Amino acid sequence: MSVHSTEVRLAARPHGWPTAETFEITRAEVADPAPGQLLVRNLLMSVDPYMRSRMDDRESYVPPFKVGEALQGGAVGEVVESTVDGFKPGDTVLHGLGWREYALVDARSAAKVDPSVAPLAAYLSVLGMTGLTAYAGLLRTAEFKPGDVVFVSSAAGAVGQVVGQLARHKGAAKVIGSAGSAAKVAFLKDDLGFDEAFDYHDGPVRDQLKRAAPDGIDVYFDNVGGEQLEAAIATMNVHGRITVCGMISVYNATEPTPAPRNLAQLIGKRLTMRGMLVTDHGDLRDAFVREVAPLVADGSLHHHETVFEGLDRAPEAFLAMMRGDGHGKILVKIA
Ligand code: NAP
Repeated sequence: MSVHSTEVRLAARPHGWPTAETFEITRAEVADPAPGQLLVRNLLMSVDPYMRSRMDDRESYVPPFKVGEALQGGAVGEVVESTVDGFKPGDTVLHGLGWREYALVDARSAAKVDPSVAPLAAYLSVLGMTGLTAYAGLLRTAEFKPGDVVFVSSAAGAVGQVVGQLARHKGAAKVIGSAGSAAKVAFLKDDLGFDEAFDYHDGPVRDQLKRAAPDGIDVYFDNVGGEQLEAAIATMNVHGRITVCGMISVYNATEPTPAPRNLAQLIGKRLTMRGMLVTDHGDLRDAFVREVAPLVADGSLHHHETVFEGLDRAPEAFLAMMRGDGHGKILVKIA
């Protein structure tokens, strides 16, 4: 059974911020699944900051997207046809070929998920790659321990909302978040239980962080880089740990960006600053699900998603995520 599918392609590589011209929405015929493949009808897809890096023609830990080809990314969908034992029509699978209605998925890169255990959105957010990033980045990379004062940037975003709540759940002395609007600051304090939160537009981050953490911070979970990283270094206590998870403030830069001007403080304060990639931490997945799924199920760990309706709105959703127009994880409902 061959099907026609709408897909979103990379039309041109962006210089700086992506625009509507970066994307092309078109129809394509999808071949029958070859041995080992599944034909999947996508239901929901994720938009993520790392997709911006893949739009550039630059070697990285993931290959660049190809101009003229459909973009890729996390998605959940329903198996329509299967050539593989263990998968049958009607199964729900998590895989990496979003940005299209129908996907031909290599069964080895598909994982079955159970929609009766958690909503589909959770598999792309708090119980998926996003949640594992928060879990591994906080517990393993930053070596969080009870009593730590934790600061997380982009705290009202997909990863940040989980980092702050996990730190609180695990006995942080104080959890501080920064975000880009007053509404997000209220969300952090009122809905997610952060002790302190501030809008990084409201004055120098260094001053705002110092007010929120007069006794310093022990862990900084960096999603943003730039001024926030410099402020965190300035505020860190001796033996503080920084997880460098992301640097979204520079992803659209067209010129090299300055390093934190106070890196020399790493010496006197004996700080550890360590980059992390979630793909290195697959061995934590079982422990993560065992620990976090019950917190999600009993409502003690909140997760917020902003859902855009329709595949044709995927470019808009991606740009909204990059700009910060939305709380929590940004998803696109395809069907
Ligand atoms: P997200 O935080 O849900 O979305 C991105 C957010 O970044 C926006 O909502 C916006 O929120 C904020 N932002 C944009 N420009 C900014 C700027 N100039 N300064 C400060 N904040 C800015 O995205 P996410 O999926 O949770 O990812 C968060 C970070 O983790 C990203 O840097 C991403 O690349 C990284 N990440 C890394 C890994 C890994 O394995 N290392 C895995 C997943 C994600 P505001 O409204 O608050 O500005």
